[in-house]
Amino acid sequence: MSKNYIVGFPRIGEQRELKRVLENFWAKNCSFIEVQKVASELKKRHWNYQKDSGIDFISSNDFSLYDNMLDTAIILGAIPKRFKTLNNEELYFSMARGNKDCVAMEMTKWFNTNYHYIVPELSLEDTYKLNASKIINEYDEAKELGIKTKINLIGPITFLGLSKRVDNGDTYELFNKILAVYEDLLKEISKLDEYITIQMDEPIFVRDNEMKILSLIKPTYDRLANISKNINIVVTTYFEHSNEATKILVNTPIWGLGLDFLHGDENLKSLELISNSKKKLIAGVVDGRNIWKNDTKSTNKLLESIAQNVDKKNIIISSSCSLLHTPFTLKYEEKLDKEIKNWLSYAVEKLDEISLVTKLFFDGIDSLDATNKDALDSNIRANKSRKTSALIHDKAVQERVTYYTKFQRDGRYEDRIKLQKEILGYKDLAITTIGSFPQTPEVRKARRAFKNADISYENYEKQMKDYIDDCIAFQEECGIEVLVHGEPERNDMVEYFGEQLQGYGFSQNGWVQSYGSRCVKPPFIYGDISRPKAMTVDWITYAQSKTKKIMKGMLTGPVTILNWSFVRDDMPKDEVSKQIAVALSDEINDLQKAGIKIIQVDEAAFKEGYPLRDKKIKIYEAWAVRDFKISVSSAKEETQIHTHMCYSEFNDIIQTIENMDADVISIETARSGNELLKIFKEVGYKQEVGPGVYDIHSPRIPSINTIVHQIKLLLEVLPKEQLWINPDCGLKTRKWSEVKPSLKNMVEAVKIIRANLK
Ligand code: GLN
Ligand code: ZN
Repeated sequence: MSKNYIVGFPRIGEQRELKRVLENFWAKNCSFIEVQKVASELKKRHWNYQKDSGIDFISSNDFSLYDNMLDTAIILGAIPKRFKTLNNEELYFSMARGNKDCVAMEMTKWFNTNYHYIVPELSLEDTYKLNASKIINEYDEAKELGIKTKINLIGPITFLGLSKRVDNGDTYELFNKILAVYEDLLKEISKLDEYITIQMDEPIFVRDNEMKILSLIKPTYDRLANISKNINIVVTTYFEHSNEATKILVNTPIWGLGLDFLHGDENLKSLELISNSKKKLIAGVVDGRNIWKNDTKSTNKLLESIAQNVDKKNIIISSSCSLLHTPFTLKYEEKLDKEIKNWLSYAVEKLDEISLVTKLFFDGIDSLDATNKDALDSNIRANKSRKTSALIHDKAVQERVTYYTKFQRDGRYEDRIKLQKEILGYKDLAITTIGSFPQTPEVRKARRAFKNADISYENYEKQMKDYIDDCIAFQEECGIEVLVHGEPERNDMVEYFGEQLQGYGFSQNGWVQSYGSRCVKPPFIYGDISRPKAMTVDWITYAQSKTKKIMKGMLTGPVTILNWSFVRDDMPKDEVSKQIAVALSDEINDLQKAGIKIIQVDEAAFKEGYPLRDKKIKIYEAWAVRDFKISVSSAKEETQIHTHMCYSEFNDIIQTIENMDADVISIETARSGNELLKIFKEVGYKQEVGPGVYDIHSPRIPSINTIVHQIKLLLEVLPKEQLWINPDCGLKTRKWSEVKPSLKNMVEAVKIIRANLK
């Protein structure tokens, strides 16, 4: 009997082999055959890892050279017109990355993860046609190795829901066309073996869906599950509950449902329905979104409570989602503190956790063999040590944060801004930037050399200060009015702070795929957060000492620090965020005491932390706003607080943004004219706004005219007194040769506008 299951496995490779070979291929340093060779080796290794851990349901088609949504588009023949002349890998990578004639397809976030998928482009005039070769080949590849896989597919309703129409319409209008290709696909798959399990990923079911979408579930799965008797379909959801869909799915002929009981504990409400339907329950109980060792005993308890409703023989134990969202293996973590490492578990380790909990749940503690008994004991010990370790629990922090009373800064915005304008004396349409300047190879090299102890602190400091000097000289010469120091000392806006906060850990090899060949290595919060000493004050005061103009201090906000880290799971997220906020409020206090008059608190990831379900949004907003306000609560009335957000869609959240009570917010609207700014006017937004006037994500240098035009558009919406002028994000990814002329043009444009306004 099959007892356990993995939704999907990471594919980048334990040493990011896939990344390396892809990037080599793109740079024309190796052939596609080489890419395929590495891909085959990786698949084989990944299947074997799962098999060796005793996982019963191992997937095929979870592998991809770039992205599974892109793969699905190819499988269905959904190829945008502009790529139609291309074939094979040239077609595939052009769709993903563009080529000299065609722009790439759009990419966007996969639900609330940091994985990005390619957005399929659909149109009414398209004809879709099956190309099942990838699926068939991968299935056969595994079979030759003696591994019978379940086949992972993105379900049709999610595929349509996440695609876009290029001819302006609703993607669901293409439902029948697309479903017909899925039917063909299932017919092909049914020929592959005596019987086959197919996992249909339908994460779209975890959103608050309209009836229009829910009404498609029954016809879809009635049709697909009836294609062939030898196919068992599992419909899998994750990241939240999918109770509305479950109600419908139990009345279709599918074989099983995969549900996430960790991030969607409300799924527990569906147990009775599932039980009555006699369907298999693939119970996601081991976290696929985090890096913490599973607590085997409490997982077992959760399973036992599920078993009160669902017959044990219908339960299959699973990861909560694909393990794609966790790093690969702890094997290469050589530098981590032993105690901390013992609390962690990456994808490979999670396989053994699932296997252990399977034995415990199905066979009972008394039938564990010596090895498993040891494994259970050491799991219990590791979890105990987390409950008591002095590395984690800091009484002083806990008390201070619990009894923290300063929830907002003094003074009303209306009074503060008058005072600030008077003291700071900036003009209307004040000119500034978002913080970072180009991270040159020299800057990166110096940082690396210092980190590896190859150069002294003095040497490093001098190089950084020289860079800061250059940044200031350029900004003064160019006519920027509120200056920044350029952030040369920061490799990353979260890591920089994490490294200086107590309670933060860093891995050597904790890479998680972000998109294509790109991976990120999020730091992790394991313990109570405190700030042993000031983190930015020296750099900023140095910079301020070099100019008579105002130097803007630069911090990353609590919500962004939290959202871009792996967060401890032994404490509610909002408490962790509050601890970070309190630490940041001390930093602001220190900056202000050191004479810094404007401080920017970046909340680049404020929006991406939004929950998937409306019901939870209010709760998130409440603590996210609370913690932003706590972090700036130490600011005096005359200290001006800026914030920056890397997006432009504020329609749904404008009230929340206003509630954050920042004096100035800079946002990313350069690509959408003044359209997205209108909401600020509509709701009577009071505070000042810096809508980026040019797009920094492209190497293009905006002309003076373009920027003049852009500023005019802004002035159609908001008055000059309320507007700041800045690029739409930090400049660290750009070259000086792009940044210098762009900023000069920006300043010139403001001069022209100001002259016209007089
Ligand atoms: N201050 C940061 C920078 O300029 C902000 C970056 C961001 O929000 N992504 O780099
Ligand atoms: Zn930004």
